[in-house]
Amino acid sequence: MEIKNKISCSCGKCGIELNDTSPKYSVMCACEDCRQALSWAEKNGGKKPKNILYSVYFRSDILNYFGLESMVVTHLQEDASSTRIYCKNCYSCIAVDHTNYHNNIFMIQPDYCKQNFNVQIPPKSVINLQDHPEDFIELDSDTIPVFHSRKYPQERKRFLSIEPIAEYLAPPKTKAKGITLRDLISKIGKIEVLDLIKGEVL
Ligand SMILES: [Zn+2]
Ligand SMILES: [Zn+2]
Repeated sequence: MEIKNKISCSCGKCGIELNDTSPKYSVMCACEDCRQALSWAEKNGGKKPKNILYSVYFRSDILNYFGLESMVVTHLQEDASSTRIYCKNCYSCIAVDHTNYHNNIFMIQPDYCKQNFNVQIPPKSVINLQDHPEDFIELDSDTIPVFHSRKYPQERKRFLSIEPIAEYLAPPKTKAKGITLRDLISKIGKIEVLDLIKGEVL
């Protein structure tokens, strides 16, 4: 029987298998960087990005990986905080690291890669709505906390007060059993800098 721990690209050439498949938390993200990164992938054959993206976080603890030669690692700009792994063939985005994740967690946007286990949990907040391209936005819930930005200390504090976000946006308390996403990124080696202009619509 197939183990239910796999995140892979849509063509099946590359992917990772997790030691811990329980989603730690999820958010809906409207940031321009996620959208731009997926638009870049779309130009290469990937799927068209939505304006708000379901984003879910897992422990950065990888049991196994396959298709390393099909993986490409990208930064939107030289000084980017996010590192994204795509399949070179189908341009699925299979994993995202961010400096704020402290090698404790990593993120996926499940609509843009494949999983063989449940990755749907209720989102804890809607973030980065300042980057949403439309003026009036319908959200699925009218009680979920929304964040226009996180540039002010009050907003960051309010974001981190939503459990269990602060726990996971901190260095890990227990060591990964397998390799971390950052270990995998260094195995892939080279980071391709896309040199995209911040906020530019592709
Ligand atoms: Zn692929
Ligand atoms: Zn985002």
